[in-house]
Amino acid sequence: MEVPLFDTETPLRPLRARIVERVAAVIERGVFILGPELQAFERELAEYLGVRHVVGVANGTDAITIALRALDVRRGDEVVVPSFTFYASVEAIVTAGARPVFCDVDPATRNLSHETVKAVLTRRTRAIVAVDLFGSPAPVPELRAFGLPILEDAAQAAGASLAGRRAGSLGDAATFSFYPSKNLGCFGDGGAIATDDDDVADLARMLRFHGSRDKQTFEHIGYNSRLDELQAAVLRVLLPELDGFSAGRRAAARAYEAAGLGEHVTLPVVLAGAEPAWHLYVIEHARPEAVAAAARERGIQTRSYYQLPVHRQPAMRRFAIDTPPLPVTDELAARNLALPISPVLDEEQARAVVAAVAAVAAATA
Ligand SMILES: *Cc1c(COP(=O)(O)O)cnc(C)c1O
Repeated sequence: MEVPLFDTETPLRPLRARIVERVAAVIERGVFILGPELQAFERELAEYLGVRHVVGVANGTDAITIALRALDVRRGDEVVVPSFTFYASVEAIVTAGARPVFCDVDPATRNLSHETVKAVLTRRTRAIVAVDLFGSPAPVPELRAFGLPILEDAAQAAGASLAGRRAGSLGDAATFSFYPSKNLGCFGDGGAIATDDDDVADLARMLRFHGSRDKQTFEHIGYNSRLDELQAAVLRVLLPELDGFSAGRRAAARAYEAAGLGEHVTLPVVLAGAEPAWHLYVIEHARPEAVAAAARERGIQTRSYYQLPVHRQPAMRRFAIDTPPLPVTDELAARNLALPISPVLDEEQARAVVAAVAAVAAATA
């Protein structure tokens, strides 16, 4: 049985005709940048998230850079970020002119925590990037105690929630990526910033268009970073499906547990009150490469993520000099393995994956 790591194809199949229709309508209209599709999508996503503003941008990386600048993070400011994340969470801080300060993560949730952030705070700390890693909400409410602006990197968490609030509405601003394999993916690159703050939204809107309000007067050095009309049209078809997709992902995770996965590996743990969106379903094992090999033999795709954590990346050397040991990050880097997950992963596939995992456990027992 072939089980891909992601299945982006099957969930889209019943929507394809509608997407083609909406894309054709955009082509017919002939407005491709900053038009009515983007406006409508921004309004619809804001409503879904329960926030006042959404600003569409070109990708999830630009979204972080622009959001940090809109939160008034300035050159030389320190921004705390977990090292165990996708590189872009950190790269975008540098692009915004600030200094990333790496923190460790909690061994259970794999997200930053009050404790891991506190360990690296200084007088120069100006903001915190709270990544909702693998689609599991970060403990943003407990980070409030520091009184610093919190940017929620929700690139992996569209469809998740914490205590009844959507991921993407937890921080002072949040960012999304609509990269095709993300939980809410478009047909190319795309991203967005969500916020309740009128001033942050206003500045982000200017920054995405060269720092200008009216295309005549340029008040800031900004970016050319827009979510285009074709992508917005695709996203407008997919957004109403997001909750259904997320429910499917959670059902797949439950199928793994029901098939006994927890007897063989360390399962992911989420915060109390969290509904994860399982962008990736990541387990821990002493020999992830052995599990990966057993899975591959059976046609099952797996992948280890962030094996070289960001603070150990060559480009980050100058920011990592004062980084304290991050033991949980290093352990996760060595032990993690993402198993297949998608809105349509079924019980039979889940059992096949667990059988592959169990074969390794049995062989090494
Ligand atoms: C995908 C991702 C990004 C970057 O998004 P792009 O659209 O690829 O620029 C940022 N942070 C995290 C956690 C991501 O997973």
